[in-house]
Amino acid sequence: MSVSKTIPASPSELDKKLDVLRGVGPRMVPKLQKLGLNNIEDALYHLPSRYEDRRQLKPISRLISGQQEVFVGTVLAAGESLTSRTRRKIFEVIVGDGSGKISLKWFRYRKPWLQKRFPIDSKAIFIGEIKQFGSVREIHHPDSELIQADTDLVQLLKSDPLNYGRILPVYPLTEGLSQKQARKIWYPLVENYADHVETCLPAKIREKHHLLTLPEALTAIHWPPETTGLADLEDGRNVARKSLVFDEFFFLELGLALKRAGVQLEEGIAFKFSHKFTIPLNKMLPFKLTEAQRRVLGEIKIDMMAAHPMHRLLQGDVGSGKTMVAMMASLIAIENKTQVAVVAPTEILAEQHYQNFCLWFEKLGLKTGLLLGGMGVAAKRELLEQIATGEIDLVVGTHAILQAGVEFKCLGLGIVDEQHRFGVKQRSILKHKGKNPDILVMTATPIPRTLSMTLYGDLSVSVIDQLPPGRKPITTELYRANQKQHAYIRIGKELEQGRQAYVVYPLVEESEKSDLQAATIAAETFAKEIFPQFSIGLLHGRMKSVEKDAVMERFRQGEIQLLVSTTVIEVGVDVPNATVMMIEHADRFGLSQLHQLRGRVGRGADKSYCLLIPSSHYSEDARKRLQVMVNTNDGFKIAEADLEIRGPGDFLGTRQAGLPDFRVASIIKDIRILDTARQEAFAYVKQTNQLTTTAAQPVKEELIRRWGGRLELAAIG
Ligand code: ADP
Ligand code: MG
Repeated sequence: MSVSKTIPASPSELDKKLDVLRGVGPRMVPKLQKLGLNNIEDALYHLPSRYEDRRQLKPISRLISGQQEVFVGTVLAAGESLTSRTRRKIFEVIVGDGSGKISLKWFRYRKPWLQKRFPIDSKAIFIGEIKQFGSVREIHHPDSELIQADTDLVQLLKSDPLNYGRILPVYPLTEGLSQKQARKIWYPLVENYADHVETCLPAKIREKHHLLTLPEALTAIHWPPETTGLADLEDGRNVARKSLVFDEFFFLELGLALKRAGVQLEEGIAFKFSHKFTIPLNKMLPFKLTEAQRRVLGEIKIDMMAAHPMHRLLQGDVGSGKTMVAMMASLIAIENKTQVAVVAPTEILAEQHYQNFCLWFEKLGLKTGLLLGGMGVAAKRELLEQIATGEIDLVVGTHAILQAGVEFKCLGLGIVDEQHRFGVKQRSILKHKGKNPDILVMTATPIPRTLSMTLYGDLSVSVIDQLPPGRKPITTELYRANQKQHAYIRIGKELEQGRQAYVVYPLVEESEKSDLQAATIAAETFAKEIFPQFSIGLLHGRMKSVEKDAVMERFRQGEIQLLVSTTVIEVGVDVPNATVMMIEHADRFGLSQLHQLRGRVGRGADKSYCLLIPSSHYSEDARKRLQVMVNTNDGFKIAEADLEIRGPGDFLGTRQAGLPDFRVASIIKDIRILDTARQEAFAYVKQTNQLTTTAAQPVKEELIRRWGGRLELAAIG
């Protein structure tokens, strides 16, 4: 079945540009574009971020602190004054309504404008969050709408249904678009166009879960009916939102279900176990595999025995021993006279894996190769030849392995390390280097279970949730930018005891040069001023790989005691004697990156430290990230926090992972719905013989429309 060419014309009303709407002129169009809204469908799915209850106006005495409230008041006094503590100028307006008084405050304002707007005795509707300081209630920067002194309020509430007398949507805005304008655009938009959205979710499933049709759901979420509970709306616990979320998840999971079905139709290698190499390795190892390692290995073995190709994600915190599991799986593939490819994201990591594998493989009489982009022509030609003839059992390398000239005699297992840097496409190239080899993807960046299910629905997931015994937790300390001396004292103490340290600088693309400079200067300062008695090394991305290797090797051997580096050491480096890591400009790193970095220490039996030095000014989000680092060493908790702070869109770059962005659903909030939608989607694919029945055709068309080319649907059947 080739489905990629049959994308149907979508209902044209929804494709219309937004200037067909009343009140949207040439000046408004670019503003809406800024919000990512280009056509009617986009706008229909631009949902309120919260709601305001304007079903009635409250007397001032009954306003509740902490809540967004709407009330009418008469201006009793207005003027500028100084705050008592900070001596800042503020503008204050006192309003009352006979039941009580409240103070309105502005901290940024134009005085003439406010004076003119709020003369004594003028009347207005005020909207804002009530704050309580002791017995004083106030609102900062309230919204206000002036009304005539003799206005009949009941009449007003009724006469302006766009702004009063009901639960109102509050939309995400952009500069030059006010809430009032937004309501004026969205009210008729929903009224005229919601009905054009087609509900493709099979009716049986919709009814079973008591969901609304899409037009019903969209209407209700923009303009909630009178009877809706505000709390439910704000929590997203209403049926309208649930219906939209379910719809989104259903089509996502439908795509994944089809993909999964396609994968299982492929023939793969059914490996057998001779234990020719695995048992000897087990005997040689100076430690026993942890229970988690053995369990995960068991899951991998079952996949490898099966006659269809393995697609498995191996997830485990830094240092949990993934490499050892990968080594065992490799031996199984080699016992079956097939080859193994190990792809790593950086040369340093490839090098390290290579050394690691060599150490054991040589003892087993197996042959290992290292393939890097920058290697000499002659050496490369020889290596490629050995790979092609099958002389080499296992090749470790960077992206270079994925290039066209690399051909295997018989690739049985592809291992991808640190997969978050890899896209679906690379995985697929690797797969085509053999005849449906098994694929094992390892990641040290823990992905929350729920997210991995969504993002990697076509992969099965194994989790190593236990560290090898004897690891001491890493103590993480957050310093201020001007407290570096304290951090140096800590580093000095460790160095004096014969331990080693990393000092890491961020390398951000735009300012690559200046960061490089910062690292270079820091290395000099350490060598000359701070730690002249110790040997200091410098490692950065601009160095040639031989130079990098030389520095890394000297650090590994303990010749270099303090290594100043840009983030090239981020992944996988394993030097157990290193017990301190100081991270400069820590605010500039993402959480998972910080966790990765921190994982470079705490690899031996000694207590380790991670010292975070932020820039002198940094954002609120950055502060949260750093605090998470101080609070926990648990990679899963960190991943959850990261997801929360950044939102799933940013978390992995969903686009790169080949997935659509969600318009309504939140992977965090809507887990339960995701589970249900997944079950229904997988069942539906089965029932309809992979969407081949007549009844399933509209569903299939909608699926293709939504996924576009992003799912490799063409691979099915
Ligand atoms: P990961 O790849 O998950 O970050 P590694 O496989 O590099 O972790 O393992 C980290 C360190 O722990 C290595 O030095 C490795 O030899 C060691 N190791 C692995 N498994 C065990 C185990 N079961 N017991 C003790 N040490 C182990
Ligand atoms: Mg590793």
